[in-house]
Amino acid sequence: MTGFSTTLNHFTELKGQPRALHILNQYLTRPIPPLLIFAGPDGTGKYSAAEVFVRTLFCDTRSACGQCIPCRKMLKGEHPDYIRFPADRVKIGDRKKPEDFTIRWLITSRLSYRPHEAEMRFVLFPDASAIQDEAETALLKTLEEPPEHTRFIFLVSDLQLLKPTVISRGVIVPFQLLPRESIRELSPGIDESTLDLLGGSLENQSIITSTLFNDLRARVKGIHSRLDLVELEKWLIDQEKGAEKAADKQTEPFGGMRLWELATLAWIHELAQEPEANRRKLDALFSFKERLHNEMPGYQPYSTSLLFAALIQAEGA
Ligand SMILES: [Zn+2]
Repeated sequence: MTGFSTTLNHFTELKGQPRALHILNQYLTRPIPPLLIFAGPDGTGKYSAAEVFVRTLFCDTRSACGQCIPCRKMLKGEHPDYIRFPADRVKIGDRKKPEDFTIRWLITSRLSYRPHEAEMRFVLFPDASAIQDEAETALLKTLEEPPEHTRFIFLVSDLQLLKPTVISRGVIVPFQLLPRESIRELSPGIDESTLDLLGGSLENQSIITSTLFNDLRARVKGIHSRLDLVELEKWLIDQEKGAEKAADKQTEPFGGMRLWELATLAWIHELAQEPEANRRKLDALFSFKERLHNEMPGYQPYSTSLLFAALIQAEGA
């Protein structure tokens, strides 16, 4: 391995993540533990870091050059030894004929064989908290006696979402919210107040810079009366309906929940300029935000009407 690069070249993917970079650099030259757990908020580069780490290891010149055959296969998402599970719930799979990307499929048709082209196979779970129940038990068993030619990478937004038994099997690679300078560098041309809204993560970048979101911010700014509030509520509900329809076509970045999350974000940001004068409205928005992830059917419309009732009462009161 002498003469090969011993640092990750594609630093863009790891901007503002010195600790993660340090740890991953170590494993370019040392044996990689069976499980690496990339832990930290969404939108801080975990997914691209995993990709560039594996690409560096697969690359003919260990530089993630982008030119060699393994690099090109990785870039096209076609490398047979890099298995990316979907981000939604991971299933155990049928005992006899397990569907692709289930745990039984992984164990019977992948892990028991040597990698096709690379020295080591990598299996990525983009949301490790989605591995539960039987799937989790089976995977834990695998991790107890890890297959010689396979390494696992788990991504998780919060370590508390994983069981201690899982955490104890892995090495944690910590990701933190990005410093302002890194966000600025990664989002050229972004204005300072939008930068505030991103809050150290690129997760909402495409949405926050979209026309719809800017429209939303302008509308929140333009509220001067109870009537304005009633109109905004109607507008938001219309947007939500539109987003639900568009969600099937996957053309619209706003899911219903997402829309409300971002509306709250824009609103709080606006009102927080004068926290004293807006205390009651801010209270209403913060408690709405806490209720947002209640998945009881019919709860969200109720919660939204509570929010607007409180805001209308606070407006001009
Ligand atoms: Zn290469």
